[in-house]
Amino acid sequence: MRRRIGVVGAGWTGAVAGRLLTDAGFAVEVLEKTSVVGGHSRAETMNGVVYEPNGAHIFHTDNEAVNQFVNSHGLTRPYDHKVLTEVFLSPDDDEGHLLSWPPQVEELKELPVWPKVEQELASLPPYPTGDNFEDYVVSMMGRTLYDLFIRDYTAKQWGRPATELSARFAPKRVELRRDGHRGLFRDRWQYFPPNGINEVIESVLSTVAVTLDTEITVADADRLGQDYDAVIITAALDDFARCPGELEWRGIEMRSRFEPTDDPGGVHTPAYVTNRPSTRVPYTRTVETKHATGQQIEGTVVSEEMPGAPRRHYPVLTADGANERRNAELAEKIAEHFDIPVYFAGRLATYRYINQDEAIADAMAVAHKVATEQGG
Ligand SMILES: Cc1cc2nc3c(=O)[nH]c(=O)nc-3n(C[C@H](O)[C@H](O)[C@H](O)COP(=O)(O)OP(=O)(O)OC[C@H]3O[C@@H](n4cnc5c(N)ncnc54)[C@H](O)[C@@H]3O)c2cc1C
Repeated sequence: MRRRIGVVGAGWTGAVAGRLLTDAGFAVEVLEKTSVVGGHSRAETMNGVVYEPNGAHIFHTDNEAVNQFVNSHGLTRPYDHKVLTEVFLSPDDDEGHLLSWPPQVEELKELPVWPKVEQELASLPPYPTGDNFEDYVVSMMGRTLYDLFIRDYTAKQWGRPATELSARFAPKRVELRRDGHRGLFRDRWQYFPPNGINEVIESVLSTVAVTLDTEITVADADRLGQDYDAVIITAALDDFARCPGELEWRGIEMRSRFEPTDDPGGVHTPAYVTNRPSTRVPYTRTVETKHATGQQIEGTVVSEEMPGAPRRHYPVLTADGANERRNAELAEKIAEHFDIPVYFAGRLATYRYINQDEAIADAMAVAHKVATEQGG
């Protein structure tokens, strides 16, 4: 008889793990609590315009196996992601300056604050240092650029001063560009699907049994033990274990609105993603997905990204690593409720700040582990 694997969650991680194990001969069932697949990466439409209710999602990777996998499911349309930031140089400025993100030294040289910035850059250490986010970033770009681009954005985004945040995720988020490379990413492959990512994830799941509208919690452990020989959990562990508040999360709410346009190619904001670090607005950025899809349709959807929503979007990586430790403890406690092997994978269950390609790589690793340990 084929070995049976239950997978909790139909985002990238659950979908890819489910697909690979199905291909390897396991009897897989993916259990998803909502009525749709795709998790955080999912796109929706408003009056026919594709937009992203969970924030901008750009697919980029340097991982050859991941690239081949997504190509084989139709994700091939090249895209070069460029971000702008609206910066106010002084409190009296009526209009902000639209500058590249990450900051580009060549552009900064045109600004009146350049002499001060130049002086600060000259006295930086050879490599960024510091345990907390603020110290690390100031040591990378100096105080003036930190104040203009980072300080208020970070406080809005995380709801706490940057001094309380870990420097661990700074290298992934912040850079000062001296080489003129304008794209946000340097990965070999970057794509944006014209209709949103859903059809790619649906292709991944096309041969996998998926049961929607089914929320699984630790209370289902006995039943899962009867139905499957092993289970992979991609859900947030504090939610799965029914102990909300045990882990800290930061969430966003995309306030999305339809705007008419004069012509089918029309857009409303300067870029797909425009960072808005200023405290003059409560949101952190605007997202207009039509820039990336290139959709030819009358109208557009602009989303303002409001931080601080009670949703599980971002793990909060504090300088002391306390939340990561609590997540590891929760994983151990959850596993004790099961009589079958339990595996944890993906962004939520492992409480890591990972991108879609890393979630896919995680799924590949867990599928390999399950196949090796559970037999085909
Ligand atoms: C605001 C934001 C912007 C991002 N931007 C990018 C980007 O530009 N590029 C990029 O590559 N990545 C980006 N990411 C990261 C990307 O969203 C994740 O890496 C990816 O979605 C992780 O997939 P996952 O399957 O691990 O988790 P998810 O996508 O969260 O999927 C988990 C699934 O499990 C389901 N589920 C949860 N609990 C249960 C339960 N108890 N029972 C059953 N089902 C359950 C959920 O409904 C969901 O479908 C961004 C993330 C956020 C939050």
